[in-house]
Amino acid sequence: MKNKANGDFKNRKLTTGKNNADNSERMFLSLFENLPVGVFQTSPEGKILTANPTLLSMLGFDSYDEFLNNVDVGRDLYVCPDERRILTYKLEQEGKIQNVELKLRKKDGTHIVVLENSNVVRDENGKVLYYQGILTDITDRRRMEEELVKHREHLEELVNERTCHLARVISQLQAEITERTRAEEKLKKLTEELRQSNEELEQFAYVASHDLQEPLRMISSYTQLLMRRYKGKLDQDADEFINFAVDGAKRMQALINDLLAYSRVSRREMNLEPVDCEMVLKKVLTMLEPCIKERKVKIINDTLPRVMADSLKLEQVFQNIISNAIKFCDKEFPEIHISAKHSEREWIFSVSDNGIGISRQYFERIFLIFQRLHTQAEYPGTGIGLAICKKIIEKFAGRIWVESEVGKGSKFFFSIPEKVD
Ligand code: ADP
Repeated sequence: MKNKANGDFKNRKLTTGKNNADNSERMFLSLFENLPVGVFQTSPEGKILTANPTLLSMLGFDSYDEFLNNVDVGRDLYVCPDERRILTYKLEQEGKIQNVELKLRKKDGTHIVVLENSNVVRDENGKVLYYQGILTDITDRRRMEEELVKHREHLEELVNERTCHLARVISQLQAEITERTRAEEKLKKLTEELRQSNEELEQFAYVASHDLQEPLRMISSYTQLLMRRYKGKLDQDADEFINFAVDGAKRMQALINDLLAYSRVSRREMNLEPVDCEMVLKKVLTMLEPCIKERKVKIINDTLPRVMADSLKLEQVFQNIISNAIKFCDKEFPEIHISAKHSEREWIFSVSDNGIGISRQYFERIFLIFQRLHTQAEYPGTGIGLAICKKIIEKFAGRIWVESEVGKGSKFFFSIPEKVD
């Protein structure tokens, strides 16, 4: 293959006489033509002496004649001609070069990137005869590497963006947490202030109602004395005025008693113990018997359970709700149904009546202190009973509510947990 005059291996005649020599030459020729890398021999002056088909197509030539006769390696193939000077110097100094990356110009002017491995061939005097070597086209590999670098850079940009976004979100969250913590602290402080002020108010209500009892008892007994002693002896107006005073004093006594009962719910310790609700109801119905008889009330009660409660307080709840059921009934025969149902970890009691009912908009309001829906003339009362019930039930860790429809009766519910921690 060395220094082939026209370089066209396809037309080359195999001249070796012996079979073996023929075979090995054929084999090398086939190898030379089919190698996937470019193979070359070049003169020190830059003339191409030999090239395989792969090198030709790598550089975009299709004629050996043109490639071998017209191309000057340094001038036509090297994108930087100086590179060849440096390489040939290195080749001659070291005898070979390995895996040197080069940019070569193709026939159409575009560039390819190759890896060169070559060596120097000298004569017996050390004179350089030619250079020979192989060129591997790594243009695609380089392009892919560049693409990869671009992708990596893009990925890094995305990661950076995400990181910045996350950092912003985190700092926003931190600000929100700080704000919420501040709000929670404020709320805690306010709740504590409210608790204190409630305590003070209850203390005040208790003291006021307690201390008012004595002078009120005096007013009440003296106005009653006045009524007994002077009724019919003064004029008609005087009788009426004394009646008003007696009535007012009675109402005030009821109010003060209820207020005291209300403030006692929080002042007194709850005595939680297993309570037989059947017994509690029995006691309440006995207390209310005169009224039940007078109003011809029909009372039905289902079996009631034992619960953890304060029996006196529970009595108060049943008494308030049942006496309301009788009071707020305009039927000739009031009917009351008392029941209890076991629900998830609690008992739900209900007291339903066939009374006047309550409009939905008052379902919450009636449990607040002093909230009444009627005048004294229509239905007497203080507006404290249900507020007391609510306070007691909440002390048992339960809830109280009502379902009702005007004219169709009401159903009061309250829950008591199975176990109180
Ligand atoms: P009081 O009975 O002294 O007025 P409560 O606190 O016991 O006060 O009740 C508040 C209000 O709720 C009552 O004034 C009444 O308007 C309404 N109410 C309570 N129970 C019933 C009931 N069973 N049916 C209709 N209205 C009721």
